[in-house]
Amino acid sequence: MNYKSISFIFMLLSLYLVSALPLEFRLNKRSCSKTYKVVKGDTCYKIWTKYGLSESKLRNLNSGLSCSNLKTGTELCVAGDSSSGNNSSCKTQYTIQSGDTCYKIWTKYNLSESSFKKLNSGIDCSKLHKGNKVCVSSSNSSTSTSTPSNPSSSFTWYRECVHSNNYAITFDDGVYKYDEALLDLLKKKGVKATFFINGNNMSDITNSSVRKTIKRMYNEGHNILSHTWSHADLTKLSKSSTRPELKKLEDEIYNIIGKRPKSIRPPYDFRNDNVVDHLKYYGYSYGILWNIDTKDWENKGNVDTVLSIIKNGLSKSNRPIILNHSYYDGISKDKLLKLVEKEIDYLNGKGLKGVNMETCIGHNVYRSSGDGFPN
Ligand SMILES: [Zn+2]
Repeated sequence: MNYKSISFIFMLLSLYLVSALPLEFRLNKRSCSKTYKVVKGDTCYKIWTKYGLSESKLRNLNSGLSCSNLKTGTELCVAGDSSSGNNSSCKTQYTIQSGDTCYKIWTKYNLSESSFKKLNSGIDCSKLHKGNKVCVSSSNSSTSTSTPSNPSSSFTWYRECVHSNNYAITFDDGVYKYDEALLDLLKKKGVKATFFINGNNMSDITNSSVRKTIKRMYNEGHNILSHTWSHADLTKLSKSSTRPELKKLEDEIYNIIGKRPKSIRPPYDFRNDNVVDHLKYYGYSYGILWNIDTKDWENKGNVDTVLSIIKNGLSKSNRPIILNHSYYDGISKDKLLKLVEKEIDYLNGKGLKGVNMETCIGHNVYRSSGDGFPN
């Protein structure tokens, strides 16, 4: 086939697409109170931000809309009939200033990257235009825009990683004030870790500096998983009293990082069949234990003791999950950093790689995006 015939077929195809457009693209005139004619260079993103809409709102108003094939001259609906009461648009908008980056904006409004992107789906952060509007809070009254998920069909306990020569270093009972220094160390060492945090134990998760630390943990590739709201003994709780221990913490984590854990480490390693039933009911799939317990709290961070525990552990498994703490009675920043640095140097020296829990167990440790807490 030569060039001419290809262009001819292309032209026929374009003609067909243009003529077919009114059939597949239906502007719902009945519920539209304002329309906009697409001009050259428009993108759906430009249009929905211009009119303060979300992507889904624009799509609701224009069923069949194809954003990848937006035609100049097409009439789009940009405002619904207010009497229809079907407004799920943006509550607060922000006008982009020169020098703004997405990161600057989501940090300013205390959003996670993913919740910001959910509010502005399709946004291209490399092409922010001064004067355009972005959405920084949703008009949905609930803090969470997710829909309830289902109970989990299975529940698996993990004590070690699935691949040889991976190790998962884990920190329980935080967030604590030395976690920022710990993050600096992990970054320096190129190690991804996992934090099993509480909502209200050593610190209060609603505190802005704690939230900042959690956001940093997430942004730097670590996993943030549940250790219950108050460090509860789950074997003593009924199904209904287990609920707030999971949900309150999840809601807070969701508001910070835009993800809900479906993985948990039960405090004190207290667990039984009832606990598993409750966790499954509330949508949890993975229980994360360990096969090396450093007992850092008991030996007050003694490096030699911990290294001999790790050495012994490695003789049994070359893919360990290692239990450490963000806080224990008598901890100091020095003790914590010295111990963790020696642990990492020892493990890395044996040719192992420090990975987060997602890599360690080879599963998504968070619920699918959009999934909320089960009813
Ligand atoms: Zn604990």
